[in-house]
This record gives sequence, C-alpha cells and structure tokens, in this order.
Amino acid sequence: MLKGSCACGKIRYEIAGSLNGPVNHCYCQGCRKQSGSGFSSTARVEASVMNVLVGRHLVRSWQHAAGTEHFFASCCGALIYSRDPADLGNLLLPLGTLDCDPKIGKNLHVDTSSKAAWLPPWGLPVIAEGEEIDPVISSLWVTPKGVPRE
Ligand SMILES: [Zn+2]
Ligand SMILES: [Zn+2]
Repeated sequence: MLKGSCACGKIRYEIAGSLNGPVNHCYCQGCRKQSGSGFSSTARVEASVMNVLVGRHLVRSWQHAAGTEHFFASCCGALIYSRDPADLGNLLLPLGTLDCDPKIGKNLHVDTSSKAAWLPPWGLPVIAEGEEIDPVISSLWVTPKGVPRE
C-alpha cells in the first residue's frame, strides 16, 4: 500500500498495490511545463488500484495538445496523476506526491535530447543528507587553469 497527497494535504490518495514499471525521469518540454521544473519523475500504476480517498471533488483536469490528460489539485496546483486516453487502464503517477518510499530499483532518463540548457550536466557528484560536503568539494576543486588541485 502506497500513500500520497497534494501539496496542501486536502487531497489524499492510496495505491492498493505497487507501482508498475520503472521510474521515468522525463526531460521533455511538456513535463517541464507541467512540473515547473527541469524534469518530471513518474511511474505507471494500474488505474484500478489508485484511490483518491479525500478531496476527490478538488481534482480538476486539463488535456495537453498531445493528448495526455493531467489531473491536478485545485486547492494547491499539485499534479495528482496523468493518463493517456489511449491507455485508460494505467495512470502516470508523479512520484513527488508520494508520502512513502515506493521502493523501485529501476530508473530511466527519458527524452534526454530535450533536456533544458539550464539543467546541470549529467554525472554531478551526489551528496547524501548528513554527509560531509567538504571532502567532496575538495576533490572537485580546480585551479583557474582547470588543473585539478593536488
Ligand atoms: Zn492541495
Ligand atoms: Zn515528458
């Protein structure tokens, strides 16, 4: 059982099962516009296991010119889910609304040729919460000539 909610908490949903497939981190323009960010992270879920428990009356939708329907929270604007009218049996769940770890091991970067120029390059170092930043910064330090520091 997975649980999630909108940004203000007036809409709460649960998924009576698990996510269906890998996490797609999509860099297309549509996902940027929809999310207001550099990419969107979604995973498929069977429509039959997605239940909006609270605040169903607050869910609104709009349809992208490409066909995808987006269902969002009228209370706070959070995207709750999307669906392809040609595949009504599945939904695309934006993972940022989950209130738990869906424990998905597989991730894909999708539509990377559309990646915004202002996003950082691939392969930046990862610093976990609580990890000391200084050793990582030191290992990255370069002189003005671009030569790594000894
Ligand atoms: Zn809300
Ligand atoms: Zn996309």
